[in-house]
Amino acid sequence: MTDPRAPENAHARPAAEILAALDASPSGLTGAEAAARLARHGPNSLPGARPRPAILRFLAQFNNALIYFMLAGAAAALALSHYVDAGVILAVVIVNAVVGFLQEGKAESALNAIRGMIAPRASVLRDGRRVSVAVADLVPGDVVLIEAGDRVPADLRLIAARSLLIDEAVLTGESVATSKSTDPVTQGAPLGDRRSMAFSGTLVAAGQGSGVVTATGRATEIGHISALLRQVETLTTPLLRQINAFARRFTILAFVGAAAVFAFAVALRGYAWDDALMAVVALAVGLVPEGLPAVITITLAIGVQRMAARRAVIRRLPAVETLGATSIICSDKTGTLTRNEMTVRRVVTADGVTLVEGAGYDPTGHGFAPDPVARDLLRAGLLCNDAELHPGGWTVEGDPMEGALIAAAIKAGLDPAAERAGGRLDAIPFDAEHRFMATLHDTGGGRILLVKGAPERILAMCAHQAAAAGPQPLDAALWTDRIAQTAREGERVLGYAMKPMPAGTARIGFPDVQDGLTFLGITGFIDPPRPEAIEAIAECRRAGIEVRMITGDHAETAAAIARQLGLASDPQVLTGQDLDRISDADFAAAVARTQVFARTSPEHKLRIVRALQSRGNVVAMTGDGVNDAPSLKQADVGIAMGIKGTEAAKEAAEIVLMDDNFASIVAAVREGRTVHDNIRKVIAWTLPTNGGEALTVITAILLNFALPMTPVQILWVNLILAATLGLVLAFEPTEPGVMARPPRKAQAGLLTPFMVWRIGFVSVMFMAISLAVFFWALSQGRDIEAARTMVVNTLVVLEIFYLFNVRYLHMTSFTLTGVKGTGPVLAAIAVVAAGQLAFTYLPVMHRIFESRPLGLADGIAIIAIGALSLVVLEIEKHLLRDRFGGE
Ligand code: ATP
Repeated sequence: MTDPRAPENAHARPAAEILAALDASPSGLTGAEAAARLARHGPNSLPGARPRPAILRFLAQFNNALIYFMLAGAAAALALSHYVDAGVILAVVIVNAVVGFLQEGKAESALNAIRGMIAPRASVLRDGRRVSVAVADLVPGDVVLIEAGDRVPADLRLIAARSLLIDEAVLTGESVATSKSTDPVTQGAPLGDRRSMAFSGTLVAAGQGSGVVTATGRATEIGHISALLRQVETLTTPLLRQINAFARRFTILAFVGAAAVFAFAVALRGYAWDDALMAVVALAVGLVPEGLPAVITITLAIGVQRMAARRAVIRRLPAVETLGATSIICSDKTGTLTRNEMTVRRVVTADGVTLVEGAGYDPTGHGFAPDPVARDLLRAGLLCNDAELHPGGWTVEGDPMEGALIAAAIKAGLDPAAERAGGRLDAIPFDAEHRFMATLHDTGGGRILLVKGAPERILAMCAHQAAAAGPQPLDAALWTDRIAQTAREGERVLGYAMKPMPAGTARIGFPDVQDGLTFLGITGFIDPPRPEAIEAIAECRRAGIEVRMITGDHAETAAAIARQLGLASDPQVLTGQDLDRISDADFAAAVARTQVFARTSPEHKLRIVRALQSRGNVVAMTGDGVNDAPSLKQADVGIAMGIKGTEAAKEAAEIVLMDDNFASIVAAVREGRTVHDNIRKVIAWTLPTNGGEALTVITAILLNFALPMTPVQILWVNLILAATLGLVLAFEPTEPGVMARPPRKAQAGLLTPFMVWRIGFVSVMFMAISLAVFFWALSQGRDIEAARTMVVNTLVVLEIFYLFNVRYLHMTSFTLTGVKGTGPVLAAIAVVAAGQLAFTYLPVMHRIFESRPLGLADGIAIIAIGALSLVVLEIEKHLLRDRFGGE
C-alpha cells in the first residue's frame, strides 16, 4: 500500500506526472484503494463551526428586554422583602429559560440534521466507472468530473478542461471567472493564476473538465483560510425581528402603564407605596408576553422539520414564512412535473417511422431491426452521450434522456461497449442556452462530428438529410411538421445530425457545427407526468395558487404535458422568441395571461419572475442550472432541485427539494400556511390571557375595591401557564381547509383587525367573568381568600377553554377532533390541572399563595363557566370572522 503525499507544485508540473505522484490513473482509483486512502487521510471536510457551549446558549435565553424587565421586578420585590414574590418571578423566568433552552436546542440539532440532508456529492471515476459519491468521501488520487454549476469539491490538478471557467471569488476575491486549461504554469504563480488547478470551494461557471484530487479537507487552499468562512446561520427571520421589536415596545408601554397605575394607587387611592409597587410589578409581569419570542422560534423550527419530512429542505429560515403567502408557483417541467423517466417511443428518419416498445430503461425483450439511417441515428445518440446505463438494475448515471438513448440503441442491436470503444476526441458540452451537444469521434473510417439537440436547432445546421438511398436535400418544412406532430403527442423531441471531418481534426468548436451537416432524423421520448403532480396542481387551484410551467422544451410538447397535468384545458403558450418580441409595456400583462412558457432560457425566467412580482404576486420559482441562480435569487421563494440541481442553484435557493417533485413544493406551502396560522394562534392566545389578568387588577385599583387576585397569585398564574398552554400551540397540526382558502396578502401584518378585536374582546370578557365570580363569592359570605382562590381557578379554566377556541382560527372548534385535542394539548392541561389542584388544596401552597380549599360544587361551577365562555367565543368567532374579511 502506498501513501502518496500531496504533490509539491502540482500547478507547475504536467498532469501525467501528478497522476503518477499520486499513484493514480486517468480512469480513477479502485473502490478498495479509495476506502483505504479515506481511512488514512480522513474525510474531505472542513471542521464545522464549534457549537456554542450549552451554558452560553442557556444564558442567551435571558438576553431579552422582557426578561430584563422581569428581573428588575424580582429585584424590586427582593428590596421590599417580598421574598415569595421575588421567588415566583424568578421561577417564571427560569422555567421560561429552561423551556426556551431545551426547545431551541432541539430545534438547532434538527436544523443541523436537515442541513446534512443536502450534503453535496461529486462525480468521480472509481473502478473505471463514473459514480456519484459524497464530497466528504473524496481522497487524493480520485479523478473528479466537474461541470457548470458544480462547486469544486477538493483541490484538483486538471487533466481535461473544455471551455472551463471557474469563479474563484471565495478564494482570491476576483469576481471575473478564470479560464482553466491543463497546461502547467510557472512555479511562482499566485493562486489566481494557477490555471491548471481547480480549487476546493470555487464555482464552475461554464464548461466541463476533470482533474485528479491533490488535496482534501484541511489540506486544501480553502482549508487554510476556512476559519474565516464558517458561519452559523442564526435562527432569525423578519417575523421574529418584528416580534422582538413589538416585545420591546410592549415592555416600555407596560412600564409606563405600571408607573401610572402606581402613582394613581398611591396618590388617589391611599395604597401603601410598597403594596402598590408589588401590585404593579405583578401586573406588569402578568402583562409581559415573556415566552412569546421563544414560542415563535419553536413554531418556525417545527415548520422546518415538518417541511423536511415532506422532502423540502429549508436553507434560509425566512422562506418558512414566505412560502405560506405564495400566490404563484413557476415550475420546470422535466423531472418536477414529469417523472424524468424517459423512454424512446419513436425514431423518425427520412425513410419512415419506427415505433419502439417498452417502458423504462430495461431494453430486454423489446429488440427491433432499424433501417440503416435509424441505426446511424441511434449510434449518434449512443456516442454523443455522457450517460451510462448500468446493466443489471438498468439504472442511469447521468441524464435520463441519454440513458434512454442507450437503452434504445441496445434494443436496436447495438453494443454500447463496442461502439464506444473508440473513445471521444473532443466535445462541445450541452448547455441550456444552445440546446445541443456535439462530439468528435474516430470511426476507423475517418473522423466524424455528431450532434444532438433541440430539433429546430439541429435543422438549422443542416443542408442535407440522410436516406437509405443516399443524402438528399433537406426538406425543412416536412421536418418541422413531423416535429410538431410528435410534440403534440406530448413527446420530447430530439434531433440528430452528423458531418465527416478532415483527417487529423482533434478539436471542434462552434464554427464546425454552423452548417454543412446531414440531418439524420428525430426521436420522440415519452416522459409521463407525475401522478402526484396532477393532484398537487388541483390542490393549488383550490388554494388560489396559480401554477406556471417554464420549460426549455418544445411548445407543443409543453402544451400537451400541461393538458395531461390539468394545468389548463387549453393552455396559453409563449415561447422564448415570443417573449423577446413583446414590448416592455405589454410584457407583464402577457406573462400574467400565460400558463406555459416554452423554449425559454434562464434570462427569460428572470424577466418572468419580475413581471409576476410587479403585479403584486409572491412568486416561488424552481431551477436547477447554473444560469438559474439569478432568477432563484429574484423569486420570493427560490426552489432548487436536490437531485438534478447544480450546487450553484442550491446555494442561490431558499429551499432544496430532495425528490425534485412538484408535489413537495405544494406540501411545503401547506406547512408554511400552518406555521403562519400557528404563530397567529400563539399570539391570539397569549395577548388576551395576559390582558384579562391585567385588566382585572387595574379595574380593582381604579374602582377602589379589594384586589381580586394578590400580586403573588398573578405571578402564580404566569408560572403555571408559561411552559404549558403557552407552548402547545406551536405544535398544532394543520387546520383542515388550510388549502381551501386563498393565499394571505403578502403585506398583511400578523395582527389583522379581527385579531385586534379579539384581543380586546377576550381581555374584557375575562375581566368581567373574574370580577363577577369574585363578587358573587363575597356575596355568598365567603372570605376574601376563598373568593380569590376561585378567581385564580376561574381564570386558568377560562384560558384552557379559550385555547380550544383558538386552535381553530378559521372554523368551529366543536368537532370531534377539536374536542379531543392533541397529545401536547392534553399533556399541558394535565400539568395545569395538577398545578391548580396543588394550589387549591396543598397546605404549603395555602401558606405561600394565601389560597384556600374549594368545594366540589365550586369546581363544577368554575368548569361550567369555562364551557359557557367557549360557547360564547365560538358564536362570536362564527358571527364576526366573516365581517372582518375571513381573517
Ligand atoms: P425543463 O426546463 O422543464 O427542465 P428541459 O429539460 O426541456 O425542460 P433544458 O434542459 O433546458 O430544458 O433542455 C432544453 C432542450 O435542449 C431540450 O428540450 C432538448 O431539446 C435539448 N436537450 C436537453 N438535454 C440535452 C442533451 N443532453 N443533449 C442534447 N440536447 C439536449
